[in-house]
Amino acid sequence: MPIVSCPPAPPSFTDVLRAARVIAPHLPPTPMWSYPVLDAHVGAEIHVKHENAQPTGAFKVRGGLNLLAHLPAGAEKAGVLTYSTGNHAQSIAYAARISGVPCTVVMPENPNPAKVAAVEALGAAVEIRGATMVETGAYARALAEERGDRLISPAGDPDLIAGVGTLYLEMFTRQPDLDAVFVPVGSGTGAAAACLVARAVAPRCRVIAVQSSLAPAAHDAWRSGEPAGRPVQTVAEGLATGSSFALPQQLMRGLDDFLLVHDDDLRAAQRLLLTKAHTLAELAGAAALAGLLAVGERFTGRKVAVVCTGANASPAELRRLLADD
Ligand SMILES: *Cc1c(COP(=O)(O)O)cnc(C)c1O
Repeated sequence: MPIVSCPPAPPSFTDVLRAARVIAPHLPPTPMWSYPVLDAHVGAEIHVKHENAQPTGAFKVRGGLNLLAHLPAGAEKAGVLTYSTGNHAQSIAYAARISGVPCTVVMPENPNPAKVAAVEALGAAVEIRGATMVETGAYARALAEERGDRLISPAGDPDLIAGVGTLYLEMFTRQPDLDAVFVPVGSGTGAAAACLVARAVAPRCRVIAVQSSLAPAAHDAWRSGEPAGRPVQTVAEGLATGSSFALPQQLMRGLDDFLLVHDDDLRAAQRLLLTKAHTLAELAGAAALAGLLAVGERFTGRKVAVVCTGANASPAELRRLLADD
């Protein structure tokens, strides 16, 4: 994936307020609950924001709906085409179906079969191509050009970030006095949106990003201030991003910290959500809790939110989760 040297202007807080009006007819606010058993285990007051309860099983649908609602007039006649390991694909397919726009998704080889089935059930066409997301993205760009489809980048669009910002509007409306919010990072749209909204409405809330140490591109770019590409060795699909994206990185300068956790930590957090919070998360969806566990002593007695970003675990992941007793 080429590093975009001159990204579009970041969205504003007003864009997030506009996005809230766009998505309101389609998505009710997701719940945010605390679980006494989980709180006792960690020693903090934890609010789990349940994006696993979205109709697509992940938060990205907020961005997809907002992006497709802002396509320029006439553009809706062409198809949209995107590339993704799955949750971005479901988001765009869901929004395309609502807008009546044909949608094609290119996925890398060996995709999560549950995500392929979900995208196809939403009426989108799936093509499987490329051993890595870099190859998949290159193929998608060529295909979009050949067909005259509109290519939707997984992270480069301000409308995606503004749409995702609605998650944090809901969060701070429910709990205006959070001490910290933990956000999983792949490409960084979620963490960028959290920074944007927290800085506007909850300036003293710390925003802490969490990425897999087995795919640390966004983390390394944030630390160094330079674009980064890193190998992807994590099995957490939502976090399997091999390069940093300029637009979210710009907003992520507002982060208070950026943690790395190992895949084993993701598994432990996934198990805690299942056993202490009645919640099935995919591995990426457990990353925020894994981050909190990694620095737990800093937040003893504090009020923190963790975003459970998604629930779309693969059949293999589910087998492992249940077998690991
Ligand atoms: C995409 C995704 C993430 C990472 O979000 P970014 O906005 O790409 O940083 C985390 N969790 C899940 C479940 C995802 O699908």
